[in-house]
Amino acid sequence: MPAAIIRAERVEKYYAQPSENRIQVISPTDLSIVPGEIVALLGPSGSGKSTLLRMLTGLSAPSAGQVYWHEKPIASADANVSIVFQSFALFPWLTVLENVEAPLKARGMEPAERRRRSIKILDTVGLDGFQAAYPKELSGGMRQRVGFARALVVEPEVLFMDEPFSALDVLTAENLRSELLELWQKKTIPTQAIFIVTHNIEEAVLLADRIVVLGRNPGHIRTDFKVSLPHPRDRKATAFTQLVDYIYKVLTQPDAKPPALPTTPTGKPVRDQRQMHYQMLPHARPGGIAGLLELVLDHHGKDDIYRLADDLAFEIDDLLPIVDAAQLLGFLTVNEGDAAITSTGTEYANGEILRQKELFRTAAVENVLLLRQIVRAVEAKSDKSVPEDFFHDMLDEQFSEEETLRQLETAISWGRYAELFDFDASRRRFIQPEKLVHETDVEHTSRTEGEIDA
Ligand code: ADP
Ligand code: MG
Repeated sequence: MPAAIIRAERVEKYYAQPSENRIQVISPTDLSIVPGEIVALLGPSGSGKSTLLRMLTGLSAPSAGQVYWHEKPIASADANVSIVFQSFALFPWLTVLENVEAPLKARGMEPAERRRRSIKILDTVGLDGFQAAYPKELSGGMRQRVGFARALVVEPEVLFMDEPFSALDVLTAENLRSELLELWQKKTIPTQAIFIVTHNIEEAVLLADRIVVLGRNPGHIRTDFKVSLPHPRDRKATAFTQLVDYIYKVLTQPDAKPPALPTTPTGKPVRDQRQMHYQMLPHARPGGIAGLLELVLDHHGKDDIYRLADDLAFEIDDLLPIVDAAQLLGFLTVNEGDAAITSTGTEYANGEILRQKELFRTAAVENVLLLRQIVRAVEAKSDKSVPEDFFHDMLDEQFSEEETLRQLETAISWGRYAELFDFDASRRRFIQPEKLVHETDVEHTSRTEGEIDA
């Protein structure tokens, strides 16, 4: 293997919390980028892909461990890298040409030379004629071309991209992707390696020579393997779809050891060393879970998750939390990328609303620690109410602030739906569901707020 351009050794990232605890986002990770390869980093959202990318570029310092650039600590090495962002990140007040010139200007290059280089790269990415335009006058695809030009104009040894095609429509993305691949393969650009973060499995398999899959809580490498399919790659080829299927399997079984690769793996799956108290609640709505179960039932109770996503016209990233939730509640089992509905799941999908709530309630209390704790705490208090902060403080020992808030939001939505508890948003307290509070009332017609009692 050629010497690494960038080599991360036991890098970790944690964020300080107000409560003195720290949230680990990346657990000790080794990763190298060598010349001649396109590396794709895949993983569910929140797994730490962007965090890892930023550490590899030197943009963000690891909390522990070290990143080396040609074997020198990256902070002192003046690494020649650039990043393309999903959001384009252009300066709206600068023209296309000025945007592309900006990084050269920052490096102190004299005006004539930087203009010459910028015009050349604008031609290369198909933007000739657009020099004087402002970003707002351009379509998303053209804006991202400016993003590419600005990244490439410094002739980076490694080009980093963080979901560069995610904000574009399918055709534009496809077009830009193949143009980039062509520039790379024909060596029109002097870039030695490309590192792309994506959550699109097909995109990874289309572009990459090597795929790294990240798991979450904290981020860790689950598997790292080479893709040896020849270019141009055919999405319909068996080897292609097998590989896509394989990655689906890895992603849909976050807690399992990755299954055997259809091709030869080069990396070892890394063991999961995390120890969790609370399981991470997938951010899915009860309505979404019901919808998915109905669809699976429609497909005779079992289907490939890939196909389900297709049928729903969902991105896998959007479907996975729903699959996770259904699995957590015992409504669905997932095996080798196939989702199969359980008997409770079938009853749930077929049930009337009240029966559904009942099944959800039982499943939630049985399987979800946080919900169980909220219910117990509310019951235990004489005023039948518990401040949100109480759970917030417990959760934020384990999750980041942002994730803690999302966990609470999901818990509230599930708890309300299942009528396990209600949440008083003005006092930020968990309370007993209205139905129970009013059990002794003669009239308990009012269910939802705002409904007028007859
Ligand atoms: P991805 O790119 O895979 O979606 P990120 O790298 O953006 O994931 O984030 C990984 C985790 O780190 C997330 O849970 C996110 O909430 C957390 N995180 C990111 N930045 C910060 C920060 N500045 N403070 C606390 N937590 C953070
Ligand atoms: Mg990200």
